[in-house]
Amino acid sequence: MTTLANHLPTAELQALDAAHHLHPFTKGDELNEKGARVITGAKGVWLRDSEGTEILDGMAGLWCVNIGYGREELAEVAARQMKELPYYNTFFQTTHVPALMLAKKLAELAPGDLNHVFFANGGSDANDTNIRLVRTYWAEKGQPERDVIISRWNAYHGSTIGGTSLGGMKGMHGQGSLPIPGIEFIDQPHWWAEGGDMTPEEFGLERARQLEEKIKEVGPEKVAAFIGEPIQGAGGVVVPPSTYWPEIQRICKKYDILLIADEVICGFGRTGNWFGSQTLGIEPDIMTVAKGLSSGYAPIGASIISDKVAKVLDGTEFNHGYTYSGHPVACAVALENLRILEEDGVIKHVQNVAAPHLKEKWEALADHPLVGEAKIVGMMASIALTPDKATRAEFATDAGTVGYICRERCFANNVIMRHVGDRMIISPPLTITPEEIDILIERARKSLDECLEQIRSDGMF
Ligand code: PMP
Repeated sequence: MTTLANHLPTAELQALDAAHHLHPFTKGDELNEKGARVITGAKGVWLRDSEGTEILDGMAGLWCVNIGYGREELAEVAARQMKELPYYNTFFQTTHVPALMLAKKLAELAPGDLNHVFFANGGSDANDTNIRLVRTYWAEKGQPERDVIISRWNAYHGSTIGGTSLGGMKGMHGQGSLPIPGIEFIDQPHWWAEGGDMTPEEFGLERARQLEEKIKEVGPEKVAAFIGEPIQGAGGVVVPPSTYWPEIQRICKKYDILLIADEVICGFGRTGNWFGSQTLGIEPDIMTVAKGLSSGYAPIGASIISDKVAKVLDGTEFNHGYTYSGHPVACAVALENLRILEEDGVIKHVQNVAAPHLKEKWEALADHPLVGEAKIVGMMASIALTPDKATRAEFATDAGTVGYICRERCFANNVIMRHVGDRMIISPPLTITPEEIDILIERARKSLDECLEQIRSDGMF
């Protein structure tokens, strides 16, 4: 059997990586010069690198390792499934037990009448499915001109052509002539950055009402759906004002527009409930899920669809599907992950222990001279770095300069936090203990202190 355990020295691994491996969202030249950090193992919330350093993963990988690393049950389930049925598809009038059991479980867990599941490999391609799905839905209902999907600037919905188009990241649109036609954007409910003199509640309503204006501008008879993350993740853990989602919901209902909640980050306990829609009071027609569905142990995503939408879709042949839609190993792993979230009381641990403790400690960071606001819902949180709390000012340097410095200090202090512009964000494994939360906060504070010291000496503060 091949094994990668006795690996080469770090410098050789880095040289091979630099020679042959193109990294996502990375400037290759810069990374190759510096050498990538090589992660070789992990347990619980702790990563280990090729030098043997233990690093606290404040991001749960890419917001996905909800049950923490190293759960052997998942490895065992995967091995068993690989021996029994490593692959079969669900095209051409066939099914298999892992796919149908996972679909049944998701229907049980999902709110309302979201009872039908179309599988994908991750979040991006599940959102591609959603584009085709909502357009097919309206075509089947005799309204094929209803094909416009409204999204928000600074949303993230994936990296495929469809996912990038639905997302509102201008830097991504600029690469590859995107978005595709039929996607429209409204502004995001980001009060800290864009709220001006309005109260958060006024601002939330103003931003939600942009949806109504956009629908009128496009023509209600042309709008198929609205898509949004309950809480924007990659955009900076942007928690919308309390007035936002109820108004969005009202407008979608008024114009009979399908509401897609992209739960790729918010799903599976991240916000303190099974789904972000429950935390934020949203009643979606479709939910996109991935990440926490398998806690990242196997690549899998899905669209969870309401009775109303599925009934129409069932009336036609939906010419869509991936070779690995409902991959048996990924489905079996996801089922075991859901069992652990439920039966091991991981979601209860979030509600009763981890989230309250993290909230108390995280919000206390707002007293740091660099920190403007500290926002947190469940186990996803952000802080805004600012030179002036009172005016919510931005730094005079390019956006992201200070955030990058802070992230580098976090790396040096062996805690993974991410920066989005000058916002620092975390999303740790849901299984994190209060003691580990204290370590995370202590390292975050130390990194903030060091960042402040550096920008002061560089004349940026
Ligand atoms: N939607 C959201 C809200 C996401 O955060 C992400 C990934 N960060 C995606 C979609 C894309 O998922 P994937 O990377 O699994 O394709």
